[in-house]
Amino acid sequence: MKQISYIDRETLRFILGASRSIYPREFAGVLRAAGDMIKEVLILPGTLSSEESAVLRLHMLPIDPSACGTVHSHPSPSASPSEKDLALFAKFGYVHIVVAFPYDERSWKTYNHRGEDIKLEVVG
Ligand SMILES: [Zn+2]
Repeated sequence: MKQISYIDRETLRFILGASRSIYPREFAGVLRAAGDMIKEVLILPGTLSSEESAVLRLHMLPIDPSACGTVHSHPSPSASPSEKDLALFAKFGYVHIVVAFPYDERSWKTYNHRGEDIKLEVVG
């Protein structure tokens, strides 16, 4: 299991902007890393137009071996993982970002596959 320590600032801004723009629906995507830095988000098809739960959609995704984890947004100010989120985190990947309302640079948290808080440093 690779250690991911960083996230590219542009990628974080993209996540926050996408979450804000589809609020109150949930944004969901798959994180890809280059080395120890998250540099890309793959948005799941249909995510931006469906009422379906973002987390449910992630559960059904055939996982790309280059994916290192997931990102999704909550329509509430809490970035704490739900039971469904924890089941998702355990299923694949090892770095999972949850962004909460109001989707600014302080309203997101990162978890490992066990749902424990981890820190990502924003770079760039
Ligand atoms: Zn969630």
